[in-house]
Amino acid sequence: MSNPDSLAGQVVATDAGWRVPGIANLHSHAFQRAMAGLAEHQTNPEDSFWTWREIMYRFAARMTPESTYAVATQLYAEMLEAGYTRVCEFHYVHHQPDGTPYADPAAMSKALIAAARDTGIRMTLLPVLYMTGGFDGRELSARQRRFGHDVDGFLHLLDTLRPLQDDGLRVGCAFHSLRAVPEAAMREVLAALPPDAPVHIHIAEQVGEVQDCLALRNARPVEWLLREFPVDRRWTLVHATHLTPGETRGVAGSGATVAICPTTEANLGDGLFPLRDFLQAGGRWGIGSDSHVSVSPVEELRWLEYGQRLATRHRNIAVLPGSPSVGRTLLAGVLDSETDASGLPRDAQEGVWLDDDAPALAGASTEDLVDRWLFAGNRPLVRTVRVGGRDVVTGGRHVDRDAIAQRYGATVRQLLAD
Ligand SMILES: [Zn+2]
Repeated sequence: MSNPDSLAGQVVATDAGWRVPGIANLHSHAFQRAMAGLAEHQTNPEDSFWTWREIMYRFAARMTPESTYAVATQLYAEMLEAGYTRVCEFHYVHHQPDGTPYADPAAMSKALIAAARDTGIRMTLLPVLYMTGGFDGRELSARQRRFGHDVDGFLHLLDTLRPLQDDGLRVGCAFHSLRAVPEAAMREVLAALPPDAPVHIHIAEQVGEVQDCLALRNARPVEWLLREFPVDRRWTLVHATHLTPGETRGVAGSGATVAICPTTEANLGDGLFPLRDFLQAGGRWGIGSDSHVSVSPVEELRWLEYGQRLATRHRNIAVLPGSPSVGRTLLAGVLDSETDASGLPRDAQEGVWLDDDAPALAGASTEDLVDRWLFAGNRPLVRTVRVGGRDVVTGGRHVDRDAIAQRYGATVRQLLAD
């Protein structure tokens, strides 16, 4: 269960302002930052996740290691400015557009690592195994080819990347989804992984994939995964939107983290995660900005709570016995899962300082500070962010903001012109 005590000593008044913990962003596809806002016009009265995916594929087809670096540095600088201090990068655009590996098969991974190092965010890189185009085992489509690996090629990529690990970089592993990775391949990869490597998977985001899984495996995705694999604290289930009550209790009991991405799930029309039942079952969870239509832990946490209020017509849903503050309960929840989900231990020196002079925080106390940060207004309140002993955000701005934004602007104009 997320433990309200995990906030003890984490929200404190200092001479430099209110200090709060940095937040882990558990789910990111960096390249999608460049298409945020470009899929908001109707192409079809039945627009859904699946039509959005067509636009995303067209965009993914244009990315190179250079443009990936430019987009990711902008994104990670924005994350730091918003108070995220680590990111789990769910990385699946591995090869050239026709599926041929780059001269260095790890070139795209290394572009992301360079972006994290240059901006100062700590990263868990999750190279994604992507093998099939559906539960029936069909081949990848032409546009999915640059995502694909066989098991040997994938394990070789992990072996190439692991020696790069340090205090700011962890290399884990991701399975794109049950529809994209056959069971035997999952078993082979898990057997080859270091036992403590974080494992992430997209699971049950769409009703369509739940139905396909039921039709071909006679079980729902979460039900099947829990039955077939030893899911525990090293696992992060991304989205897990469509759960039965039994699956909700099953995930909670497994110790796995659910990565909830409220703004993306809203943007894509996915559905609403059963937060109240999951909290009551003692489930562990965190947040991700996923497609980056928003890069703000404030907005993710706020909408996580607001979605539940709209659905239940009640207020103050994300609370636990002994933890009546919604903001503190939410913050304690994300802190509780971050180390297992990211595989990166917390750094005692790391922190985020909020703007003491902001009207939104006038007269704040330790008890109400987090509620006010998360639920009052839209002005960013983050002033200073320290990661790895370095102040990477000062005065609310990333230290390299201007140069990063200039390169990003040129890159996006080029991507849109191609
Ligand atoms: Zn995702």
